[in-house]
Amino acid sequence: MRVEENVSLARFTTLGTGGPARAFARPEAPDELHEALAWAAERGLGVATIGLGSNLLVADGGVEALVLRLSGDLARVEVDGDLLVAGGGAANAVCLHRARAAGLGGFEFACAIPGTVGGGVWMNAGAYGGDFAQILVRALVADADGAAWRTPEELGLRYRHSELQHGQVVARAEVRLAPRPAEEIRATISEMQAQRKAAQPTNKRTFGSVFKNPDHELSAGRMLEACGLKGHRIGGAQISPRHANFIENAGGALSADALALMQEARRRALEQFGVELRHEVELLGPIGPPPL
Ligand SMILES: Cc1cc2nc3c(=O)[nH]c(=O)nc-3n(C[C@H](O)[C@H](O)[C@H](O)COP(=O)(O)OP(=O)(O)OC[C@H]3O[C@@H](n4cnc5c(N)ncnc54)[C@H](O)[C@@H]3O)c2cc1C
Repeated sequence: MRVEENVSLARFTTLGTGGPARAFARPEAPDELHEALAWAAERGLGVATIGLGSNLLVADGGVEALVLRLSGDLARVEVDGDLLVAGGGAANAVCLHRARAAGLGGFEFACAIPGTVGGGVWMNAGAYGGDFAQILVRALVADADGAAWRTPEELGLRYRHSELQHGQVVARAEVRLAPRPAEEIRATISEMQAQRKAAQPTNKRTFGSVFKNPDHELSAGRMLEACGLKGHRIGGAQISPRHANFIENAGGALSADALALMQEARRRALEQFGVELRHEVELLGPIGPPPL
């Protein structure tokens, strides 16, 4: 397994921002993953795994850690009866394709979530009333001490949250699906994707929802829209004119620009609605919203 140094992470994120990883490796099999985790442990270096970077804001100054991107066997998808067995690095799109080909439904909710299975388990990704917690049977979680299968309960999956910590890698996951005719699956996907296209900036560089929906009658997007933030720009980042809970890279954005927008959005939501918005996007490296 090859470890590269100072690899820019900007090209591995959908927003297209972020500095370099001190070390970077693409393990392709469980033994290579184990080797990578041991390599980092020997050097006292933290480990973070990235999927398709679709929910990720990486510090502009970079990440002092070994960053892993699972590939090969660790991104493979197989169908076994009504179980879909996927490597943590497998793209949702590939899983969905395999499930549909096998006449298995239940994964359709992920059709507009441009991430991997590992990233989906990490934050219990979901849409249209479905999420990973509802279909996950178990996930194989590896760390420097070994690997163990965990159930959704053991992973602490709830709304856009798990108890997983950096250094713990979702190497594989088993999800249970149910027989469904391929045409029905295709129709559901088309409908969900059309809804997305109508409401969200699907053709822009974003990292999906910026904030989790608060416990309030208004969603985070509606709240920020009411604050007059649609189109608000800082540096190269702007709050989407289409949907206020998205930040777009409008050209040459830095993660710091996105973070400054997030700070402004939180300040305004607190001022106008008394609501403290919590970010849904994952932050990697020394980066975080300053206190309100
Ligand atoms: C246009 C758009 C639409 C979106 N719509 C939705 C939506 O409807 N619902 C939704 O929930 N999300 C949505 N997202 C956000 C994002 O796609 C999901 O959160 C997705 O699950 C992230 O997966 P990823 O592989 O890209 O993870 P990354 O963004 O690469 O990483 C996210 C987090 O997961 C961790 N991680 C990734 N892989 C692993 C692994 N194998 N083991 C351990 N940790 C890992 C990372 O360390 C990081 O903390 C959207 C994003 C975009 C850009």
